[in-house]
Amino acid sequence: MANPPGLLQSMPYLDSVHSTLKKKGIAHINAAYNKGVNIVVTSGYRSLNSQQSLYNQGRTTPGEIVTNAQPGDSWHNHGLAYDVAILNSNNQPTWPSKSDPRWEIVGNTGINQGLNWGKSFDDYPHFDWHPEITITEAKLGIIPKSSSIGQVLGGLFISGFMAAIWYNLNYPNTRINRKVNKEITKAVNKLTGRSA
Ligand SMILES: [Zn+2]
Repeated sequence: MANPPGLLQSMPYLDSVHSTLKKKGIAHINAAYNKGVNIVVTSGYRSLNSQQSLYNQGRTTPGEIVTNAQPGDSWHNHGLAYDVAILNSNNQPTWPSKSDPRWEIVGNTGINQGLNWGKSFDDYPHFDWHPEITITEAKLGIIPKSSSIGQVLGGLFISGFMAAIWYNLNYPNTRINRKVNKEITKAVNKLTGRSA
């Protein structure tokens, strides 16, 4: 089977989000492709600094307002969201008007992967995935201990991205063992571009 045209371009962004969301993203691109809509991921993980720059745009720096989320308040800051564009016939990313019927295909194929679609808050290109965790919990680094969700979030924790964010936001209050600590340090170094 041929690859959807947006897949390769999407990979740098999908590589920046949690591995489960990455898998869902790949399936999302394929599912939309099978319904005749080519999408490309144009944004994934965003550092707290880049979220701040984005928030400043249209407020204290030039440009139009593009987000209402302050650093930590966006699922992008936790490696748990990505944004897409629709490819035109020249495979260039476009953001058609909200009345374009292709958005429903893009949205529904994402929802079928268990993602939340940003349509409910008027952000059609946006998808996020955060099983039974609120943004407040994500910011505080809370891991519910009981239930399978605790295991899922344990996986998120060790995988690095959530861990790195929690490290930045709440490290003094987080109890972690040495092995996880090492993983966090590695993840933070990777995110900040510091060598280990
Ligand atoms: Zn988004």
